[in-house]
Amino acid sequence: MALNMVMLGPPGAGKGTQAKTFAASRGIPHMSTGDMLREAVAAGTEVGLQAKAVMERGQLVSDEIIVGVVRERLSKADAAQGFLLDGFPRTVPQARALDEIMAGREPLIVVDIAVADEELIRRLTSRRVCGQCGTNADVPAPGQPVPTVCGRCGGALTQRADDREEVIRERLRVYARDTRPLLDYYSGRPTFRSVNGAQAPSAVSRDLEAAVGAARAAGN
Ligand SMILES: [Zn+2]
Repeated sequence: MALNMVMLGPPGAGKGTQAKTFAASRGIPHMSTGDMLREAVAAGTEVGLQAKAVMERGQLVSDEIIVGVVRERLSKADAAQGFLLDGFPRTVPQARALDEIMAGREPLIVVDIAVADEELIRRLTSRRVCGQCGTNADVPAPGQPVPTVCGRCGGALTQRADDREEVIRERLRVYARDTRPLLDYYSGRPTFRSVNGAQAPSAVSRDLEAAVGAARAAGN
């Protein structure tokens, strides 16, 4: 039985890492929007060429092109046993288009990695990078101090400009505006699950496994 999955989650929820680990453990391809676009451009497919032209003009790739790239990717042989979409859909029109692509396939499992804004802000404003060797320092657990010295080389840690609180609040505001309707679109389905992302990564992985099991049982 194919495992067709979408993972949702705000910036700072740890979604990308969870998605990669989970997909690898199930032997299904992990598909991020950026990677799919790059692959389509490199392969020179029709939608890939359209995407390339738009990006070269410095414009944002339209829903129509993104959907075309996803449709193409999901038709490949390695997606027949399942896939994990990470970063798509981002909007309700994209979700509707995905439902059309999914017609006749196993039901879509949708998991949201949920983390409250204040915890996301704490995590994202605690991120530090070494000015000397470029290593990203581990984000401290709640209540722990933000590191100031690189654990690898002893260099001074600094904050990236786009990790400042006002920039992060704006990113979260945009995410909420675009994604709330998406959660409303999916949340009534028996195959939708929300996982508490404000835990240690190992606990999130454990809950994710359980959520997918429950969602699959409910979808069949
Ligand atoms: Zn360093």
